[in-house]
Amino acid sequence: MKRIKVMLGDITKVEADAIANAANTTLLGGGGVDGAIHQAAGPELLEECRMLHGCATGEAKITRGYQLPAKYVLHTPGPIWYGGNRGEEQLLRNSYWNCLELAAEYDCQTVAFPSISTGVYHFPLEKAAPIAMQTIHTFLQGQNTVQEVSLVCFDEVTKSAYDKAWKNLFSK
Ligand code: ADP
Repeated sequence: MKRIKVMLGDITKVEADAIANAANTTLLGGGGVDGAIHQAAGPELLEECRMLHGCATGEAKITRGYQLPAKYVLHTPGPIWYGGNRGEEQLLRNSYWNCLELAAEYDCQTVAFPSISTGVYHFPLEKAAPIAMQTIHTFLQGQNTVQEVSLVCFDEVTKSAYDKAWKNLFSK
């Protein structure tokens, strides 16, 4: 039975087949969750990322997880929020979707995501959570490789937004 879970936690500690990284287009590391993932994975992650020559917003690239409990990292630069008229919503959908396609291609059954773009990229959380939830749900229904997707929220405010989006999707 495929499912989507919302949890509070640190994604660098999550034992999924793949975790997503809210990266930037250089893929050379940054702050927030990106910094935490590189810190926990060790320097080999940056070495592999250097060979990828960046990634466009909404696209995704995969690496190994090195010292992380996760086998793979799905690096995706989410959109920077400029007010909503620059295709931000579609780009955010693309980030989730393209990570999941890569995960399925690499035979991952369990995948964990942070709240992409809602940190320093300032995508409004109340808009981002339903987009993430709906995109993941639609993806899961169309394939049989990925079985469980976790949304790993770093704070309570983020978790309540994803809990609400989950309820709106599943408890009607
Ligand atoms: P973006 O640039 O895509 O906005 P950020 O890293 O600034 O990315 O923030 C995305 C989300 O990740 C925020 O909700 C932030 O609190 C959260 N975050 C930061 N560190 C971690 C972590 N170790 N595990 C899970 N989420 C994290």
